[in-house]
Parts: sequence; structure tokens; C-alpha cells
Amino acid sequence: MSQESSPAAPANFIKNIIEADLAAGKHAQRRWGGKPGPAADHAGAPLDTAKIRTRFPPEPNGYLHFGHAKSILLNFGLAEHYGGRCHLRFDDTNPEKEEQEYVDSIIESVRWLGCSWQSGGENNLYYASDYFDEMAAFADYLIAAGHAYVDSQTAEDMRANRGTLTQPGRDSPFRNRSVADNQELFRRMKAGEFADGAHVLRARIDMAAPNINLRDPAIYRIRHATHHNTGDQWRVYPMYTFAHPIEDALECITHSICTLEFEDQRPFYDWLLERLAEGGLVQRPLPQQIEFSRLNLTYIVLSKRKLIQLVDEKHVDSWDDPRMPTLAGARRRGYAPAGFRLFAERIGVSKTDSLIDYSRFEDAQREVMNETDERRVAVLDPLKLIIDNYPAGQVEQCLAPNHPQHPERGQRPLPFSRELWIEAEDFQETPAKGFHRLTPGSRARLRYGYVVECTGCDKDDSGKVIAVHCHYLPETKSGTPGADSVKVQGNLHWLSAAHAYAAEVRLFDRLFTVPAPGARREGDAPDLERDFLADINPASKTRITAQLEPSLQNAQPEQRFQFERHGYFAADRRDSQPGRPVFNRVVTLRDSWQGKGN
Ligand code: ATP
Ligand code: MG
Repeated sequence: MSQESSPAAPANFIKNIIEADLAAGKHAQRRWGGKPGPAADHAGAPLDTAKIRTRFPPEPNGYLHFGHAKSILLNFGLAEHYGGRCHLRFDDTNPEKEEQEYVDSIIESVRWLGCSWQSGGENNLYYASDYFDEMAAFADYLIAAGHAYVDSQTAEDMRANRGTLTQPGRDSPFRNRSVADNQELFRRMKAGEFADGAHVLRARIDMAAPNINLRDPAIYRIRHATHHNTGDQWRVYPMYTFAHPIEDALECITHSICTLEFEDQRPFYDWLLERLAEGGLVQRPLPQQIEFSRLNLTYIVLSKRKLIQLVDEKHVDSWDDPRMPTLAGARRRGYAPAGFRLFAERIGVSKTDSLIDYSRFEDAQREVMNETDERRVAVLDPLKLIIDNYPAGQVEQCLAPNHPQHPERGQRPLPFSRELWIEAEDFQETPAKGFHRLTPGSRARLRYGYVVECTGCDKDDSGKVIAVHCHYLPETKSGTPGADSVKVQGNLHWLSAAHAYAAEVRLFDRLFTVPAPGARREGDAPDLERDFLADINPASKTRITAQLEPSLQNAQPEQRFQFERHGYFAADRRDSQPGRPVFNRVVTLRDSWQGKGN
């Protein structure tokens, strides 16, 4: 993460906040008891060796998507940069929606991005549900201190009395219950004596507060539900807005970074932690919530609800379908974690909402892959090229560099023989204007091999070209003296037909045909509502049988290469068999989308 090194480093206002805090020594006196806990657990402990603590707090109710990658790289990146730690915390306080499958995939994706919650001799992987005891104890404290009460209004009355943006709310008739009554009622709520919704525990703040979130927000509700971690132990569950600040405080988080929609919650976040700190329950200085704008990208959707719909309704094959904007999908497709990092650095962090063009993500990926990936040859749409003056049965080796900018990565032999595969589009019997490859009478170089002169073609009964004929010029072998003496315009890739092997290759295109799937478009009737599913690209996946250079047979799952002239391709991590890799096209060499369909 070297933003400083790049001349056009984008703004990251959060760095400014952290640097000011570090300069002021704001967190220098913080203690860390080795694991999360209330103030008393940290009080006698040594000073925290972590300069800052951040966290990534996913709710395990779905797979992570590209937007989460921004948050992960930001939080782990800041911790790394400033000598701090970043915690991975499963925000699993909601009993209904969480599943182990999601926990596992989140762990895998965070690791895949190269982020670690194990650093400085610590293992900072936490589950918010492990804090239920502390949360309930803190609620008891708030009741005792007069800061919380049990409300027994119906949900309807509660809603009606909440007021609006322009009108203050009205106090609940239960707002002035005695502390003893509140304690007794909350005890009975916890004991499971009441039905769901019969009572809620609310913070007592101000029903006339201009910010609706401060009008006595609910902090505990009754839910007779089994929780994946705590089973049937609890009959009440904390509200997210109550749980989250407490999780941060117990973990001694210094900078609690979240997306902009939580901005209106910040006053309650601060109110709650102030009250708990007054009671000596959480350590000062308190964590600071900082909001940034979420990532939005064109041509994809980034909402768990929509992603679930794509999977459930079988518009894609699975959560890790290479077309899905999930991190599991990105990994399977073959995108590079370093490409995510480069992209995240480039877009920066701000408070302004923006829609970023998907091609910027692809460009970052290409830039990384161009540097890291070895080159190989693949013929995706094979057509026979017969060299009539090359001896049948003869084979010679041509040397192809593994990376043109890195000679130290060596070369590999490519067998050359009389019958080759070339791309069908590299031959035109009647050349279109500007066509510079093979056409009767033209010369082209077979990359790493010889210059050939096209002599004609064979056709089947329907007139389709089934083979191209040529002569080779023996003095022109690449790497030999005088090889360049013959002028050519085209430069083609090829494979020896007897040595290449046929393999399945999957070509992916964008999953949606429009930049903002489901959004209204210019000229739409006022009452027209669009469905993002109607914008799905029906041709987002094509399977072909391609001819690949022999060495690719040994590609390991997830290994990625640049197929010359085509793009970047990775061996599928699920469908590849030993000796029989199946390749996914990650991205083409250049952005080809603009020209589509024209
Ligand atoms: P979604 O809105 O897609 O359902 P979420 O916010 O409910 O996502 P969480 O599991 O609660 O998903 O998110 C974990 C963290 O990831 C949160 O801190 C959240 O702010 C952040 N996050 C989610 N979506 C984005 C995004 N598009 N860009 C940046 N950060 C995001
Ligand atoms: Mg959420």
C-alpha cells in the first residue's frame, strides 16, 4: 500500500485524521488486556503496542462483494501502514440470518485479499455474539443509571409517537417507569416470559431531538430465536445500533470506519459510549466513528439482496460464478488480489458518492497481470495453416519468452511443424480495407518462427474456409541473423497442430448490458419501474474448445497466464482436473466493451 510513492495519490481523508490523532498522542495511553473486554479488563494491562486498532465487521449473512473489498483493504491497510492491528469481527448479533457457510467464505476472501487479523502476536478474530453478556450487563447499567427504560407500547404506537423530520416525537406513557420496575421487566424479558414484540428496552434520550435516531432508540428486543453461536440462551437480542459501538469499545478500536449511511447514527454511537464511559464500563479515549462513501461500480450490482436473487433465481451458476461481483467469484475467475489493491489505492477514500467505471477496475487488474503473468499461446478459434514447403514429419523448436519485459524469466520451447493452428480471423480471402494478416499473396510472421507467404485456401462445399496454405521462408527464423530482412505487416500466433491440445475455455463478458442495472433511463415514462434482472446480458458466458500450447496442460488451479493477443486466463479452481485444466478468461488485453454490437 504505497500511496505516497505514486505521484497522483488520491485523497484519503481518514489518513489525515489518524495522523493528527497520532501526533496528538490521543491513543497513546490506551491499555490492551490481550483480548476484548470492558474497561476493568484492560485497566491493569500494559499500554497497547498497537498504534491504532481498526476492524472489518461483516454480518455473516452473505458472500463478500467488491464493495467489501474496499472496506477490507482500507481497514487492514491503515492498520498495517500505521503500526496498528485490524480485527476481523463477525457481526452476528442478529439470530436469524447467519450461517457458517458465510463465515467460512468471508474468512477465505479476506485471506485471499492478502489481509491478516493475525499480527503482532495477536489473533484478532472475533464474534460479536461472544459479547452478549457484556451487552446485557451494560443495558442493566443504563437502566440503573436512569438512561434506559422498558417500553410496552405497541409497535404501531411507538411508530406514531416517534414524530417526523419536521415534528418532534411524544414521550411514551412508560417512559417514567421506576428503575426497579424497569429492572424487573428487563429481567423477565431475558427470562423469556414475554412474547416477541411485547416490550422493548429503549435508551432514554430525547423524544424531541432533531435527529430521529436520538428519540429514545430501541436497544434490546425480545426474539424467541435460536442463535448459531449462543443457541437458546438468549430471549432478547441487542439492536445493531446498540451492539456495534459496544463491540468497538470492548475491542479497543480507535477508528471505527463505516459507510456514509451510518452518519446519522454517529450521535447515538457517541451518546451511548459516553454514558458507558461515565459508568467506568468502557475505556477512554472512545472509538471514533468515521464515515466514507461506499464503492459503486458500473455494470455490476453490489447489494446482498440482489446478489442473492441472482443466485437463487439461477441467473448465475453459484455464488462463486466467475461473473459474480463477489470476492469468491473474483477469485474463481482469476482476478488478482493485487489488482484490487491497486484499484483501491487509485480510487481513494472520500465522503462523496460516486459511480466508478468498471473499466478502471479492469485497467488496474491488467496492469498488475501484465507485470506478473507469464505468456502462453492459445488459439481460441482454430483454423489449419499448412506450410506446403515444410517437410512432413519434421519438428523443430522455436523459443518463446515467458515475459517479453523480463528476459530473466526465461524461454520455453514451442514445437513448430508443417501443420499449424492459427486464429480463423487472421485469414481473409478477400481482405477488408486495413487488414494486414494472411490473405493470398501476403506475408506475415509466425511469432518466434518464420515468415510465411500465403498461397491460398481450401473450402468445403458450403464455401467455408477449412484450411489455409502457405510457403515458409527458411532464412527468416526468429533470432537468426537476417531474420528481419523480409518486411511483414502482420505478426501471428500459432500452435503446432500435432502438439497442441484441445481444452475448454470460458469467455466471460459483463453480466449486465447497461452501466446502472435497473436504473431509470432517459426517456422512460414517469411511471416506468425497471427491474435490474431485465438488464442481464444474455451472452455473458460462452464456452469454447480452444487449442492450447502443450505446457498449459500442467497449469495448476488458479494459475494465470497472458494468452498472447487475447488477454488473461486462469485455470478454474473447481472444474480443472489434473492434466486437464479448464480456463476462464479474466479480462481481455484491451477494453473491448465500447465497440460491442456496433
Ligand atoms: P450490503 O449493503 O451489500 O448488504 P452490508 O453493508 O449490509 O452490505 P456488512 O456485512 O454489514 O454488509 O458490511 C461489512 C462492512 O463492509 C461494513 O463496514 C460496510 O460499511 C462495508 N461495505 C459494505 N458495502 C460496501 C461498499 N459498497 N463499499 C464500501 N464498503 C462497504
Ligand atoms: Mg449491513
